[in-house]
Amino acid sequence: MMPKILIIEDEPAIVELVTLYLQKNGFEVIAAYDGLEGLMMVKREQPELVILDLMLPELDGWEVCKRLRQDSDIPIIMLTARGDDVDKIVGLELGADDYVTKPFNPRELVARVKAVLRRNRTGAMQNGVVHLAELTLDPARREVRVRGERISLRTKEFDLLHTLAKQPGMVFSREQLLDQVWGYDYVGGTRTVDVHIAQLRQKLKHSGVHIETVWGVGYKLCVDDD
Ligand code: CA
Repeated sequence: MMPKILIIEDEPAIVELVTLYLQKNGFEVIAAYDGLEGLMMVKREQPELVILDLMLPELDGWEVCKRLRQDSDIPIIMLTARGDDVDKIVGLELGADDYVTKPFNPRELVARVKAVLRRNRTGAMQNGVVHLAELTLDPARREVRVRGERISLRTKEFDLLHTLAKQPGMVFSREQLLDQVWGYDYVGGTRTVDVHIAQLRQKLKHSGVHIETVWGVGYKLCVDDD
């Protein structure tokens, strides 16, 4: 599960540098060299995040960002020059998620990409309360109840359960769970996931749901049959 990043930038040297650093950090990178091509590639390739230069041929970064925002909330990081009005860029007017000023350190850009993706995921988790059998999970309050009784979970146990419970029956690989719960930059191994699953299983007794091991793949959350 490599997240796909689209960079829209007309300077090949910058595209090359950014691609190199992102790939080293486990991202898949695709590039467009002008604004129109960029818009087309967002539609066709469905990247998870766009790095967008302001100064572009055909359609400049302002226009590309505006058009993207008309029908999508895809995360956008702008590449700007010193002196650009960054308040407008990340503010309401353009709605980019973050910006980096040229010349930039590619490591810093990678860090921004990770942070924006993480923020975006957390945002997506703030939907409604999950009810499954005797289990209730309230993401806003970060509360879990079994038969109405509150049970205490650690932060990562909660996030892990939430990820699984949002899509019951769906199989998640250990790597997917690591990425979603611990983040792409987490250095520990997938064994962490197993340990937390074991703890969750203890705490989910009498909840009417259980976490199944899918051999060779990962885990899924299931409602007990009767
Ligand atoms: Ca440019």
